[in-house]
Amino acid sequence: MSDVIEFEQQGAIAVLTINNPPANALSFAVCKALGELVPRCMEDDAISGIVLTGAGRMFMAGADIREFNLQRPDDVPDFHEVLGAMEAAPKPIVAAINGIAFGGGLELTMGCHYRLIAPGASVGQPEIKLGFIPGAGGTQRLPRLAGVEAALDMIVGGDPISAERAVELGIADELVEGDLIARACEFAAERAASGEAPAATGKRDAKITGIDASVFADYREKIAGRSRGLDAPEAAIKCIEAATTMALEDGLALERDTFVILRDSDSAKAMRYMFFAEREVAKIPDIPRDIEAQDIKSAAIIGSGTMGGGIAMNFANAGIPVTVVDISDDALAAGMEKVRANYASAVGRGRMDQAAMDGRMALISGATDYAQIKDADIVIEAVFEDMGLKKKIFAELDQTCKASAILASNTSTLDINEIGAATERPDKVCGTHFFSPANVMKLLENVRPDAASKETIASVMKLSKTLGKVGVLVGVCNGFVGNRILGVAARITDFMVEEGAMPWQVDAAVYDFGFAMGPFAVNDLAGIDVRYLTRNEQKKLWPDRRHPVLPERVYEMGRYGQKTDAGWYDYEPGARKGTPSPMIEDFIIKTSAELGYERRAFTDQEIVDGYVLSMANAGAQILEEGLALRASDIDVIWHYGYGFPRYRGGPMFYADLVGLDKVLDAVNRLYDSYGDWVKPSELLISLAKDGKSFADYTA
Ligand code: NAD
Repeated sequence: MSDVIEFEQQGAIAVLTINNPPANALSFAVCKALGELVPRCMEDDAISGIVLTGAGRMFMAGADIREFNLQRPDDVPDFHEVLGAMEAAPKPIVAAINGIAFGGGLELTMGCHYRLIAPGASVGQPEIKLGFIPGAGGTQRLPRLAGVEAALDMIVGGDPISAERAVELGIADELVEGDLIARACEFAAERAASGEAPAATGKRDAKITGIDASVFADYREKIAGRSRGLDAPEAAIKCIEAATTMALEDGLALERDTFVILRDSDSAKAMRYMFFAEREVAKIPDIPRDIEAQDIKSAAIIGSGTMGGGIAMNFANAGIPVTVVDISDDALAAGMEKVRANYASAVGRGRMDQAAMDGRMALISGATDYAQIKDADIVIEAVFEDMGLKKKIFAELDQTCKASAILASNTSTLDINEIGAATERPDKVCGTHFFSPANVMKLLENVRPDAASKETIASVMKLSKTLGKVGVLVGVCNGFVGNRILGVAARITDFMVEEGAMPWQVDAAVYDFGFAMGPFAVNDLAGIDVRYLTRNEQKKLWPDRRHPVLPERVYEMGRYGQKTDAGWYDYEPGARKGTPSPMIEDFIIKTSAELGYERRAFTDQEIVDGYVLSMANAGAQILEEGLALRASDIDVIWHYGYGFPRYRGGPMFYADLVGLDKVLDAVNRLYDSYGDWVKPSELLISLAKDGKSFADYTA
């Protein structure tokens, strides 16, 4: 009867099974089939009711996002009309929710008269995570079933709920432990036999009448912090509010209009893009899926400092035993104490219970010699950033560790090809560049040296997932992808401050763009001293380029940032939020004069463009040099490693939205002002010339 919906008759009940693998997504084809089958069943006197379910393990994962930007074909009915017809149908329609019913899937079940659900199934309206709101009645029907507060939580929060909770809230009528379809058929037959009109969700008004407006005001206040820069949360609240004040048709019309505006907005496009970008990172063109990744059942970390301790926690959190090695008992004890304190603070904040902490601590052991880590499946080195020391350590590890062990370095700047060459197993050497705090930050740049084998790379990519990280493959270069781009962009903001902006103006502009913090606040947090050391190295690498003077001078004043209660900002002792420092302001003005710059005003847009478009240009150079596989990988790195706002999609996506011809003009202006840091990339020039975007680029 249809390719995507199977029809079967069980007695007088028609069982319609959506079969559109892999996720039974609501595609045009499914919509068309529903639009044909439901009326046909209504007309058929041998049928007294319908059971609607999904084939396989899912009911329906949602609308088919791939069809989002396509025009609906003429022969496909509007999904609203299909739902309206189902709701108004004279014979009972029962959704048998066999697995997840998300987005359009849940909306479809709410267009049915009744919902039975299997344990293990879950329902949700996750649209908000893609920057829009439910568009097929979710904001109007869910509050009618679940009540306003639950609907707000589900639609504005976007998280799914369990089958049990769905029954508790009134979304589902029954939890069915046994044969779901058999019970659903029985249920449909009972409803048909009752002679009562089936219960349309849109007519159930008990949970949406007499709702005080303060419910919505309170909710707005509750989510204000989380929804900065986003339009969808407020839009969702408005639509749910409309469900309590307007007739169903008017609420549906408002939802529809709002949905279309949001769906076509730049922020929703960015969030959809990120959704796919995150899935793309795992694909490495020259490493087929059948390359076997090594099983990592035990790990060792060399160095129990800031990074080593955090990295060890990742393994313990994933249930993998890990041994931390440091040079002395004292250094080791200090490192282990920090790990313990970190877990204890999670317990203190109620994020973990004591038993879980004890379990994780039991997985972390300490050692001061390599003999104890000879059987580890992977060793991650996180000692001081010193090539001589790292080479020596790798040579020793190579001698001690079992032949199959992967030896990885957490270096942030050093050449891993050179580190690998210090061993007899360069095929098993690679980089795993964690971000600080390593137990929190989700990004992992996996660095691929020339000699690393495909198995080694497949193994660390798989390990990233096991550790709950987003692993992105990058090539060997100074700073790899993320920090190399930051090195350029942060310098541009230094130059802007030397020429007329103030650090707090830069930070405010970047914050308003959507980052959690601006570059100067980040610098105070990470330590001006840390950046000073890398900058000194970079001065040697690029002696002919302009280097900012201000950061060095602030360092020389002993103002290292939060750790000294003074950096670009002044801090009350121990405080994390600073206030603009009058002393620094005065000092900046004097330094500009000394350097011969006549200070001028910078607009916020100029600051954001300087920061973000210089990132995009640096990203284009990275693509050109083959150090990242695709533009979207760079965006994933910037989102997870540096907090680039998801609704902006990352520097490369942002540049695509601006248009690469305009980006090239802007980069040319930056190049005129700041020289080689922002030399227009050949790739940017050629894509701009051809009217293409970074998304079009494939290596
Ligand atoms: P750290 O100074 O906090 O810790 C280094 C640790 O290594 C110390 O505990 C030290 O005692 C130990 N150590 C030194 N020599 C050793 C040896 N021979 N054997 C065993 N242990 C030894 O440094 P960190 O900030 O954790 O940085 C470690 C590495 O991670 C560096 O390569 C750094 O570039 C990189 N990294 C740091 C960050 C960051 O934000 N701190 C981020 C990413 C990568």
